[in-house]
Amino acid sequence: MSTERQGPALDKKWDKQTVVVHDCHDERHFGAVTMPMYQNSLFTFSCHKEFYEALDSPLEHHLYSRGNNPSVNELEHRLALLEGGEAARCFASGMAAISAAIMSAVKAGDHVICVDHVYGPTREMLGNYLHRFGIETTFVNGESIESIEAAVRPNTSMLYLESPTSMTIRLQDLRACAELAKRIGATTIIDNTWATPIFQNPLELGIDLVVHSLTKYIGGHSDIMAGVIIGSHERLQEIGRQEFLLYGGIMTPQTACLAMRGLRTLPLRMERLQQNGLAVAAYLDELPYIARVNHPGLTTYPQHELAKQQMSGYGSLFSFEVALPLEQVLTWADRLQMFRIGVSWGGYESLVQVVRPLAGQEGEELVLVRLYAGLEDPELLIQDMCRSFEQLGLS
Ligand SMILES: *Cc1c(COP(=O)(O)O)cnc(C)c1O
Repeated sequence: MSTERQGPALDKKWDKQTVVVHDCHDERHFGAVTMPMYQNSLFTFSCHKEFYEALDSPLEHHLYSRGNNPSVNELEHRLALLEGGEAARCFASGMAAISAAIMSAVKAGDHVICVDHVYGPTREMLGNYLHRFGIETTFVNGESIESIEAAVRPNTSMLYLESPTSMTIRLQDLRACAELAKRIGATTIIDNTWATPIFQNPLELGIDLVVHSLTKYIGGHSDIMAGVIIGSHERLQEIGRQEFLLYGGIMTPQTACLAMRGLRTLPLRMERLQQNGLAVAAYLDELPYIARVNHPGLTTYPQHELAKQQMSGYGSLFSFEVALPLEQVLTWADRLQMFRIGVSWGGYESLVQVVRPLAGQEGEELVLVRLYAGLEDPELLIQDMCRSFEQLGLS
């Protein structure tokens, strides 16, 4: 593989930035710096002996791009290295990866435990869609291992985690979850999109499968939709033969090349995004009308100690709960100049979203606001928020 060392061994462990930028000179591609895009649906053979070998083990050969495509394989290899997994498979979106991972771990009659406040469509799939196949899910708080343990049933086959969750930013103790699941023979899956492989590596803590929406930080430029599953060879072989080949929700070679471009600067971007997120969160944490800032990097955050144990850094997506009337909060957010209003996150641009209260919760005391700090100057982000509060007569 192109990422392996050539020449005399260097004795320093590679940091993640080196892992994502270093390619060896590759004679097959005339020494091209970036891997060329393999825009192919099929690959051909010089004789039938080779062809039949490929037909017998399509996942080990280049036969058809709903199987293996070199551009996609290159990205898979790099993502597995970064996450500390043996193998990876890329998909057309985060949800394509998540649904394939879930389906690989359940059968009719099974019970699933999932954390509350998990990504919406994941909740929809586990809470509603899978009912028709006879699969039942219990949603738990997840902040204590006891809350998870109490939900275990004899037929519990999967523990689905998202740490931190992307709206309420709550964590689960990943090591404790992995131990519990091993004890009861259940598969653990985690959505690791928030922390990225740069700041959290759940496989090293005993989790079985990691999924990411590459649409967010890893793509990093708000221009692709993609997902990945990372884990052991054995599990990825099974997923490769079944959910990957049969559902066919594959990644295109163009997307793989764009994701690869995003990946090259991921460690650098995460460093700056972490600083920006912390600066903005620390500013909000001081304001008297803000009841709570949900950012695990703040020392005031209830799960800060757990965050330090299992993560080496922080994403820049967080939320806060504000004690102002909803109308005022909406006006505040609409007047921001540096934050655009929208879903998603992980690109270069800062975003804001005032979470719409559920029916029946309109009169609640606290309004939840989600912020994504992008790559802009954090002082400008803070000034912008400050000015908008001042326009409401608040300081
Ligand atoms: C966006 C997102 C997903 C889904 O990814 P898509 O690429 O949009 O399908 C899953 N989990 C989290 C935490 C996300 O933010």
